[in-house]
Amino acid sequence: MSWDDDRMIDAKLFGCAKAAKIHATGGYRPDPVELSDPLEWNRGVIREFCSGCGSLFELCRSGAAAMGELGGFQLPDDLSDRYLVVDGCSCCDAVFTSVSLKRIKS
Ligand SMILES: [Zn+2]
Repeated sequence: MSWDDDRMIDAKLFGCAKAAKIHATGGYRPDPVELSDPLEWNRGVIREFCSGCGSLFELCRSGAAAMGELGGFQLPDDLSDRYLVVDGCSCCDAVFTSVSLKRIKS
């Protein structure tokens, strides 16, 4: 896999370029209304929220599976009421250490 492939996968997973990182202050919480909104990307299956910088992404099935692998858990088939939380992402300068699967509370 080339560097370009890595960048492409990174961009697909995290939805943004590597330049101009957001300074992560941490402690962000997702907006439950925003989490409940229908996904906008036609290949999106789940949202990922970064508690480091507050960014919200949509992941495709393979991106979501990759995050599950990083977190050491299996994703359920039905992701409609779930979202992922990470503590750092490629958009910010927080160091990624964990990913967890949460249920959207309505
Ligand atoms: Zn982030």
